Amino acid sequence: MGLIRDVKCHNCGASLSLKAGEVIITCDFCGTAFNVASGKDFFLEHSILPSNFDNKKVDDIVRTWMGDGPLKPSNLRSRSIITGRSQVFLPFYIVHTNVRTSYKGFFTRGGGREERSGSLDREYYWKVLGRRGSKFPTKEYEIPLSGKEDFNLSKIPAKAKYLNAEFDEKDAQDMTKVEVQDHQRFLIMDQVNEVSEMDHDFEIEDVEFVHAPVWRIDYTYNGSPFQILVCGNTGNVIRGDIPPPDLSVGGFFSDMKRAFFGKRK
Ligand SMILES: [Zn+2]
Repeated sequence: MGLIRDVKCHNCGASLSLKAGEVIITCDFCGTAFNVASGKDFFLEHSILPSNFDNKKVDDIVRTWMGDGPLKPSNLRSRSIITGRSQVFLPFYIVHTNVRTSYKGFFTRGGGREERSGSLDREYYWKVLGRRGSKFPTKEYEIPLSGKEDFNLSKIPAKAKYLNAEFDEKDAQDMTKVEVQDHQRFLIMDQVNEVSEMDHDFEIEDVEFVHAPVWRIDYTYNGSPFQILVCGNTGNVIRGDIPPPDLSVGGFFSDMKRAFFGKRK
């Protein structure tokens, strides 16, 4: 992905390095964010979650995670090799919305067929990662918004990567509506499992834009590659691949021993 065109920062006049597909970009010099698709300044509140863990600290988190938890091979910690680590600041939209879903339908579980109607009011702070085609587990990531600070380039460690958003806040709102509708429908299935009418009324309260640091740790276990994602602000493991049980004879016996006699030290 190369430079596609030359755009100047409205604030400091520096040339912005613009990559294909990016829409909301941050000036490398002054930290001002722009919408390069519309040519307008970006007016949302832009925050950052500071990174609190360096390489060594994040390795410690990973080692602790490997040695803990019932589903993991007992020798995961001793047999794994960390092969790579990188920290990237990911752009998230947080869409604060209220929604009222009115529904009609039938409840047929338990043999009957009862007609029901009602409405479900909910408030959401819905997270949307501003990157297309990403497999990042956004739902599993509890973004620690209480730790957010005003965006400032000096809060990004020299070796960390920084990603711009590939769509703007309007797209983020549209995506939120689609996902929240699905979620509301899922909740309502408890009341009516045969829906005849459903209508969603959204009120978007506010959208904010947050860059959050995520460590990606690559490791190998018995020669196969796996990955762990760690929040760089809190140190919480967002998601970690757990290898299948060690099928070697030694691995089998140590897992059995642990199953019967408790956690092996
Ligand atoms: Zn600038």
